[in-house]
Amino acid sequence: MRESLDTLRNEFLARIVDGASEQEVQRLRVEFLGRKGKLTLMFHRLKEVPPEERPGLGEALNELRGFVEGKLELRLTELKRREKERLLQAERVDITLPGSRWERGRVHPLTLVMDEITDVFVAMGFELARGPDIEDDYHNFEALNMPPDHPARDMQDTFFVSAARVLRTHTSPVQIRVMETRKPPLQVIAPGAVYRHDDDATHSPMFHQVEGFMVDSQIAFSDLKGVLTHFLRRVFRPETGVRFRPSFFPFTEPSAEVDIQCFLCDGKGMVQGQQACRVCKGTGWLEILGAGMIDPEVFRFVGYDAERVSGFAFGMGVERIAMLKYGIEDIRLFFQNELRFLRQFA
Ligand SMILES: [Zn+2]
Repeated sequence: MRESLDTLRNEFLARIVDGASEQEVQRLRVEFLGRKGKLTLMFHRLKEVPPEERPGLGEALNELRGFVEGKLELRLTELKRREKERLLQAERVDITLPGSRWERGRVHPLTLVMDEITDVFVAMGFELARGPDIEDDYHNFEALNMPPDHPARDMQDTFFVSAARVLRTHTSPVQIRVMETRKPPLQVIAPGAVYRHDDDATHSPMFHQVEGFMVDSQIAFSDLKGVLTHFLRRVFRPETGVRFRPSFFPFTEPSAEVDIQCFLCDGKGMVQGQQACRVCKGTGWLEILGAGMIDPEVFRFVGYDAERVSGFAFGMGVERIAMLKYGIEDIRLFFQNELRFLRQFA
């Protein structure tokens, strides 16, 4: 039996080699120490040996069992250590490598221009207001003095959401919403997106307007001229010529179209003394915004007494101003998200 102990030890040693995997270690444990394991069976066979040999053999068996257990444990520990090392190696991060750079975004040119416009009016004491993009017929048309079948509704190719709701065709309904809930004096501007069924180099189905109005007890047309002239000279050039031409809008009376002197040809309409200026098409003037004194009918809709209050309103296209400021000839460039275009605006 002693010889078989030595054979068993050698067999075990031959199997628990360096390359033994975790499964092999577990298999060896069962094979030697399991309920029917080789060593366990030896313990059962102890009672077959003569009594005088039992203590010595028992001691040898115990020693071998301790040896096998120790070796198995050692191998498992070693396997775990190697696995941890492998993971550390695999997940190693070289902190000295340069990081990947996040490119910083830029403010969109239309936002830049809208902020600039807003800033000039805020400096004059105007406050900011916003309204919904989906507007009801009443606020978009009727309260702005455009009853159903009014011919002026044809001036605005409307997107209908339902029979009674539209994508707002202008920011003017914000005027109504503010006046409905508040009393004069009011000095408000409303920037935002508007929608019209239009699509070419100078018209986009979605574009931006800044609408503004001032209402108090004694507002005159001269106030309108003063505020808008100051505004235009801040956004364009301090010496820009400004002219007011009679025009028509359903919600203002009288109404005016406001032009500035062309900055490319200085209002001459010609460049280099002979060629017609391409920016103003030879007229020397650029149409910039529409304005007028708020129609008493509009005051009636919001519950103001037209005998006691007066006011002016104006509206401008942000894209048009941005195109003139930056010399952009196609409005679609603003919405194509071409990075080479957008990167030019700091
Ligand atoms: Zn010109």
